[in-house]
Amino acid sequence: MSNPPYIGRFAPSPSGSLHFGSLIAALGSYLRARSLGGLWLVRIEDIDPPREVPGAADDILRTLEAFGLNWDGELVYQSQRTGAYQAKIDTLLANGDAYFCQCTRKQIQAMGGVYDGRCQHLGHQSGAIRIKNHARVAHFQDGLMGEVRVSHDFAAEDFIIKRSDGLYAYQLAVVMDDAEAGITEVVRGCDLIEASCRQLSLFSQFGFKTPDYIHLPLACADVGFKLSKQNHATPVSKDSPMPALRAALAFLGQQVPDAACPQSLLSQAVMDFSLSRIPTQREILIDSDS
Ligand code: GLU
Repeated sequence: MSNPPYIGRFAPSPSGSLHFGSLIAALGSYLRARSLGGLWLVRIEDIDPPREVPGAADDILRTLEAFGLNWDGELVYQSQRTGAYQAKIDTLLANGDAYFCQCTRKQIQAMGGVYDGRCQHLGHQSGAIRIKNHARVAHFQDGLMGEVRVSHDFAAEDFIIKRSDGLYAYQLAVVMDDAEAGITEVVRGCDLIEASCRQLSLFSQFGFKTPDYIHLPLACADVGFKLSKQNHATPVSKDSPMPALRAALAFLGQQVPDAACPQSLLSQAVMDFSLSRIPTQREILIDSDS
């Protein structure tokens, strides 16, 4: 195993079945971790009940198993981690590093779309909770896509860490969980490439060790439209994993070995894996029947 040990992860939201787009994130993160002799963890990001579909988490897990994508260790469910998120928020509030905000979407639009921090000194006791963003990370080096930059305004924004409806924000949960699990490298789709700056801000502000990042090209049905559970991308089939696995390997620019079952295909693909063969476009159009 590499030193320090490589720990990667796949972190699906249970908003529907695994489709070709999420299979790419699962497979890419799996191959990278296994090719480096590392661990590959799975975390179910189930802290947004309005977007969740009953049974989807189990369905995703059964699909990973059918595809031979076997994870290490215990599954983590974010819904069981809310105590840790709230404790962090309580500390931030107590230290003046977070504050309540009551601005509406319309008000933020009128500010030009980036929140200007106006509630910071108003002493609200309810509303959304925003981090007082000290770290303001505006760029990072992606392991595949190279230098990634966001605008100064976006980087400096005091963004939401707990929503006014009481739900914990993805940015907070993902950082708390990646840090807790000791993730050394995050491999996921390019839809989250800019969110990485926010996450790096939190890692830095919380004094956590930052992971490296690799963002994979997104499978898109059309320019700017990633395949997603929301646009009803066809689920991959648990009963016949091979065509989708071969297509996902080809999408990632990897050799597609001749193999009869997912396990032998994956063990060969792990041996052959090459990061530098993955295309560096952020989006790749695919046939939407995939
Ligand atoms: N849960 C997110 C999703 O399904 C992915 C989060 C991540 O990989 O950081 O889109």
